[in-house]
Amino acid sequence: MLDLPAHAARAIAQLEDAGFETWAVGGCVRDSLRGAAPHDWDLCTAARPEQMQAVFAGERVLETGAKHGTLTLLTDGGPLEITTFRADGGYSDGRHPDGVRFVAHIEDDLARRDFTVGAMAWHPERGLCDPFGGLDDLQEGVLRAVGDPDARFQEDALRILRAVRFASQLGFAVEPETAAAMRRQLARLDCVAAERVRAELTGLLCGRFAQRALLAFRDVIGYVLPELVPMFDCDQQNPHHKYDVWEHSVRAAGQVPAEPALRWAMLLHDCGKPACKTVDERGVGHFYGHPKASHAIAEPLLHRLRFSAEETGRILLLVEQHDRPLGDSPKLVRRRLCQIGEARFRDLLALKKGDAVGQGTHPEDIAWLCGIAQLLEEVLAADACFSLRQLAVNGNDMVSLGLSGPAVGEMLRALLDAVIDGQADNTRDALLRRARARMEERHDE
Ligand code: ATP
Ligand code: MG
Repeated sequence: MLDLPAHAARAIAQLEDAGFETWAVGGCVRDSLRGAAPHDWDLCTAARPEQMQAVFAGERVLETGAKHGTLTLLTDGGPLEITTFRADGGYSDGRHPDGVRFVAHIEDDLARRDFTVGAMAWHPERGLCDPFGGLDDLQEGVLRAVGDPDARFQEDALRILRAVRFASQLGFAVEPETAAAMRRQLARLDCVAAERVRAELTGLLCGRFAQRALLAFRDVIGYVLPELVPMFDCDQQNPHHKYDVWEHSVRAAGQVPAEPALRWAMLLHDCGKPACKTVDERGVGHFYGHPKASHAIAEPLLHRLRFSAEETGRILLLVEQHDRPLGDSPKLVRRRLCQIGEARFRDLLALKKGDAVGQGTHPEDIAWLCGIAQLLEEVLAADACFSLRQLAVNGNDMVSLGLSGPAVGEMLRALLDAVIDGQADNTRDALLRRARARMEERHDE
């Protein structure tokens, strides 16, 4: 039995009452059957788009893909994507179906879907429709292509990345024939749009089983991110590291919160290591300057995948600064807060914890980093001043003292430095006094 939420049950009933067979389909059926809450509900129906429009006349309907038979019904329970039963035409460009053909039966619609666990449908009266053994695969934890796997990946190579993403999110094993076909069809990924590659990789990186999927399918990752291939099997020859650069990065990525920027930064933080590797006379490996080298590799990679400027900036800052100390005294923490702000400080803390766990050698580093996290909370709770905005004086005060032009900003920054370093209290009186004294000093010089 599957628990249909009220908004989906109502839409199905409306279409059925008008004479159109309608099912819940795809990810929502898969997730319900495995006991997870679906994040959205998709329906498929015998009704054509114009017939759906008639059934839902007066309701809020978006024509999301009328050409492909898809409408979105906006309900109080959330949006419902409703698609006419369809089969896809050929895929001459390996990206888009040449056309869609509406079909009469749910089974024909399920046949166009990529993996058996997503090719099941549920009907309130008829129960489960599962022509490809999706339920068995779901219970076994197996991801298997529907039909001939090579043909499916030739039609749409994005499915190769979807497979790795599902493996990462669901923790499923990819069935061997399906995995072999993914590898045979890798070159087809060349014609998949960068945005779609990015979306799948981000989903993959944020999956609960990302570590396992990234290790098992590093060749797939290496195909779309060739810049990372030198990390594979790059031995660190260093007592602080238990794993090669790739495995270290993957293990570290699996440790940070499943936030895209953090996971991407962790995956990329050491990508410059292979190019920086030197081995000393004792046979120990060193990677001097690798954060900069990682930054240089990561920047064009993120650009190619069309990350937004904001995300790119956040990820690159983390990559470049992952090795710099955060500071283990209130004064140093305030200084670092002044340089990068609270949000990036927290990002770096998360990254450093991931890095430490990913090294697999110094568990005591975690306790030390937890100490810094504690220090950060104390500094913030004490309402410490670490930015010009928080300073008890402003530019107008400096102008009143007789300063003008660049001297205003210089003075404010000098006062902020003094507050951060604990040499001055952040009060108006103290700061004005200090400013006057500095001006007199300058005057005397
Ligand atoms: P999730 O929403 O958790 O990513 P999902 O399985 O619902 O997983 P969607 O991308 O929402 O995936 O697609 C809904 C359904 O449409 C899938 O379950 C699958 O049956 C089908 N589908 C989506 N994309 C493809 C594709 N590229 N090739 C074949 N079938 C697809
Ligand atoms: Mg879905």
